[in-house]
Amino acid sequence: MKKKVISILLLAVMALSLAGCACNHNWQEATCTAPKTCTKCGETEGEPLGHDWADATCETPKTCKVCGETEGKALGHKWIEATCTEAKTCSVCGKTSGDALGHEVSEWKETKKASCTESGLEEGICSRCEENVTREIPKIKHEEGEWELVKAATSTEKGLEQKKCKLCGQILSEREVEYADPIRPEFKKAVDGYVKFFDDYAEFMNKYLTSGDTTSMLTDYLSFMGSYLEIMDEIESLEESEMSDEEALYLAQAMLKIDEKLLKFGGM
Ligand SMILES: [Zn+2]
Ligand SMILES: [Zn+2]
Ligand SMILES: [Zn+2]
Ligand SMILES: [Zn+2]
Ligand SMILES: [Zn+2]
Repeated sequence: MKKKVISILLLAVMALSLAGCACNHNWQEATCTAPKTCTKCGETEGEPLGHDWADATCETPKTCKVCGETEGKALGHKWIEATCTEAKTCSVCGKTSGDALGHEVSEWKETKKASCTESGLEEGICSRCEENVTREIPKIKHEEGEWELVKAATSTEKGLEQKKCKLCGQILSEREVEYADPIRPEFKKAVDGYVKFFDDYAEFMNKYLTSGDTTSMLTDYLSFMGSYLEIMDEIESLEESEMSDEEALYLAQAMLKIDEKLLKFGGM
């Protein structure tokens, strides 16, 4: 009797499990390679999804868009060799490698000369692609001239000097000229020469007044008169209107010294 009960219970359990009521399923969604599956009892439902393939490319093999699984190899690039103007390029994906070769011209012919303001041009035939190639000749350097005075300095205003290009005349550099000395060097030289002349004249008079050699005195006197005229010319060429106050004063003081000397000999 006891045995019978046990076998009935066993049958009941078996029946229950066969009806699927024994497991509270915990479903895991279907994947590319496995169907929807219960993690507890392993029961499945439906079919695996199957891979969703993306075609192979130059650089990647055929690959599942979902799980990333691959099959086979990447196709590899289909290279077109580099030319004068284009780099090595894949005909499939357009990827490039390296640089274009550039034209190969062995003989250039100048068609436009370069100057310091405009670049020139030259032409030649490419030995590789036989194209007529033009390229620029870079501008040449400006040629520096000498400093030129643009505006003279005065005692109150600075002057200006410029250096220009000998070829195109463009101003390349500029510099200021310091305030001018209120007494111009050429002015001082003329006045000093004038004073010196009368110093020499005084010496000459002294010598002959004591020696009394009239023959050589006359020769000397004539040569003196020659240089006197030259010096007077120079002094007279100093325009009073162009003189600065300092120059006018310098001249007045020189005249005063000369007058004092001449007075001793009763004039010239
Ligand atoms: Zn289950
Ligand atoms: Zn997959
Ligand atoms: Zn490619
Ligand atoms: Zn070429
Ligand atoms: Zn120039």
